[in-house]
Amino acid sequence: VLPGFAFSASKSTWAAVKGFEKNTEIQVAATYASSGNLDIDTVPDSRGATVNVHYSISKIPTTGYTPRLADDRVGYFLTVVKDYSKDSDRDQFVRYVNRWNLQKADAKAAVSPPKEPIIFWLEKTIPYEYRKPIREGILEWNKAFEAAGFANAIEVRQQPDDADWDPEDISYNTFRWITSSAGFAMGPSRVNPYTGQILDADIIFDADFLSFWKHEFETFTPESIAAMTGGPLDLESYEKQMRSRSPFALNDLMACRRSDGMARQLALGASFAAATAADPKMAAELQERLIAEGLKEVTMHEVGHTLGLRHNFKASTWKSLADINDPAKTHDSGSVASVMDYNPTNLAPKGQKQGDFYTHTIGPYDMWAIEYGYKTIAGDTNAEVAELNKIAARSGEAGLTYATDEDTRGIDPDPFSNRFDLGNDALEFAKQRAALVKDLLPNVAERMTKEGDDYTQARLAFNVLLATHGSSMFFAARHVGGLELSRSHKGDAGAKAPVVVLDPKQQREALKLLSENVFNDRPFTVPPEVYNHLGSSRWSHWGAEPTTRPDFPIHDYIAMWQDRILSQLMSSLTLDRMHDAELKVPVDQDCLTTAELIETLTAAVFAEVDNVKDGEYTNRKPAISSLRRNLQRTYLRRLSHLAMGETAAPDDCQTVAYAELSSLNERINKLLESKVKLDSYTRAHLTETSARIDKVLDARLTLARP
Ligand SMILES: [Zn+2]
Ligand SMILES: [Zn+2]
Repeated sequence: VLPGFAFSASKSTWAAVKGFEKNTEIQVAATYASSGNLDIDTVPDSRGATVNVHYSISKIPTTGYTPRLADDRVGYFLTVVKDYSKDSDRDQFVRYVNRWNLQKADAKAAVSPPKEPIIFWLEKTIPYEYRKPIREGILEWNKAFEAAGFANAIEVRQQPDDADWDPEDISYNTFRWITSSAGFAMGPSRVNPYTGQILDADIIFDADFLSFWKHEFETFTPESIAAMTGGPLDLESYEKQMRSRSPFALNDLMACRRSDGMARQLALGASFAAATAADPKMAAELQERLIAEGLKEVTMHEVGHTLGLRHNFKASTWKSLADINDPAKTHDSGSVASVMDYNPTNLAPKGQKQGDFYTHTIGPYDMWAIEYGYKTIAGDTNAEVAELNKIAARSGEAGLTYATDEDTRGIDPDPFSNRFDLGNDALEFAKQRAALVKDLLPNVAERMTKEGDDYTQARLAFNVLLATHGSSMFFAARHVGGLELSRSHKGDAGAKAPVVVLDPKQQREALKLLSENVFNDRPFTVPPEVYNHLGSSRWSHWGAEPTTRPDFPIHDYIAMWQDRILSQLMSSLTLDRMHDAELKVPVDQDCLTTAELIETLTAAVFAEVDNVKDGEYTNRKPAISSLRRNLQRTYLRRLSHLAMGETAAPDDCQTVAYAELSSLNERINKLLESKVKLDSYTRAHLTETSARIDKVLDARLTLARP
C-alpha cells in the first residue's frame, strides 16, 4: 500500500464479477484516499488512487489424484502440509511436488497419451512473427513427457480471432502477451493447497524485454550493480535487507526475475551482431535469429515453471564453451543441462564458429525432473517412494546437478551456481567475455549508431559491455573462498561430498585473472574520443527524467565494479569460509589462506609502490594512473576497516590486515624518500595514503578495549 494513503470504502466499488464452471473471478476497484500532495505518473489527482484488486476463487476438484512426495535433489515447487499423526523422528512436514494430474489413457501401454492433455491456448494478441518460436518452445517439453511414458502430453492451440471465451476461465491455460515493463512472471498458477495438484496455469508473457535497449542502462549505481550480482555479500547486510522487506512482498525465492537480465543479454547480443556482421543486412539477420532463439528459450523456461519446476542455476555449467559452440555436440541435447537456468547469450570468440545463441531444446536435467514428477508409479503416495528414490539417486550424474535460488544469493559459497554464466569453466568464460568486450568497446559509438541516429544507443551499449565485463569477473571472484555444495544423498553413484573446498590452484588462478582484468587499467584503454560520443537521452517529461551526468562518468563506473569485486573478495563471509577451510583441508595439503589472499591483493593493488622506476613523470603521465589511484583508495578503505576490527571477519584477518598496513606504509615512505621524482598526483596520493595508514595504526593501538 502507498504510504500516506488509506482505504476508502465509500469511493470503492465492484469492477467486475465473473462466474465460470469451476471458478469465480471478482475484481474490486479499491480506492485509496490521501491529502493529495503526491505526484504519481499514472494518477491524475492523487487525492484518490484506484487499484484493481483481483480475487480468484475456484472449486477444489475431488478427482482421483495421487499426491507425490518431493525430494531435495530434484527442483519442484512444493505444497507443504503438516501431518500431526506422522510417525517420524525428524519432523511432521509432508512435502508434495506441484504437478499436473496426468494419467495414461491406456494404463498398460509403455507410452500412452494422457486422459487429459495439458492444453495451452496462445492468446490472439501474440504477434504473428513470434507464434512459431513460442509454439515450438512449449511443445519441446513433450520430449520429456514421452520419455516419462506420455505421448503428446502438451498441446498448443491458437485462440481464434473471434473466440469469445475468457482467459480468466480456469478451464483454459493461456499464454498471454502483455507489455507492462513490470517484467514477466510465470503468472497465476492454481494449485490444490492440500495435494499440490496444479489446476490451471496462465503464462503472462511480458514482451517488454523485446525492447531491450533499456533507459536504465544509461546510468549505473552501486545498487544496480549489486542487484546484477546477487545482492548483499555479508550476513549483516543480508539480514538488514531481509528485515526491511515487506511481509506482503512476493517471496523472492519463488519469483522469476528473468527479464531484468534477459534484456541486457539481448542488448549484448545485438551489440555483438552489429560489430561482427559484415554489413547492416547481415547484422539485422543475426539479430532476428538472436530474438527468435531467445524467445523460444524463454518460453521453454516459463512453461517449465508451469509444469512445477523451479530454477536450476547450475545447469549452465554442464558443457565446455568449446562444446557449446560445436553444433555436432549440441544437436541432440542442447547447450545446457536445463532451460530452468538463466542462460546468457552464447557468443563465440573472434574467429571461431558461432553455435546456438540460446539452447534449442530442454536438457538432461529437465528430462530427469519430469520423469521424477510425472512417471506413472503403481500404488499410493507412500508406495511410490522406493521407485522415486531410485530416480533421485541419479543426482550424481553429469548434467543432473541441481542448485536453485536459495543457493545463489550473494552470501552463498558455491561459485558454480550463477545466473547468466555459461560453460563448465567460469574463468574461461570471464576471459572470453573480457576479450569480447575489449574488442567491441573501441568501436561502440561507430557501430551502434546509424546515420541520423542520436548517440544514446552508444552509451547504452558501452554500459552493457562494462556490465558484461564486470559481472563475468564477479563469477571468477566467487571462486576465492568458494565451496562446491552438493545435494546428493549417501550412496548416490558418482556423487560428491555435501561440501568440497575449492582447489587452491583454481582460487589462485581466479585471483590472477582479477589482477589482470579488474585491478588494472589496461582493459579500459579506449580511444578518448569514444567517451565523447556516448550521448545521453534528451527527453524530459512524465516517465522520463534527464540524466544527471550527461557526460560519461568513467572513473565512477570503473570504480563501482572494482569495489563490488573487492567487497566479494574481502567480505567477512568469504574470509570466514577461507579461515574455516584451513581446518577442513589436511595440514599437509595446499590451501589458500586468508593471509595469502590479503597479501596477494595488496601486492596487486599497490604494485607501483614496489615497482616504480626512476623516470619522467608528469601530471598527464603520472607514475600511478588515476584509475589505479582510485582503486588503491578503495582497497585501503577496506583493509583499514578490517585492521580496525570493524567487520565480522575472523580476528586473524584483523591482525594480518594490521601487519599488511604497516609494511605497506614502510614501502610507501621508502619510495617517497627515494630519488624517484614523482608527479604531483602520485606524490600527493602516496603522502595522504601514508598519513591515513598512520592514523589507522594509531587508532587501533589506542582502542579502549583491553
Ligand atoms: Zn524463472
Ligand atoms: Zn547458471
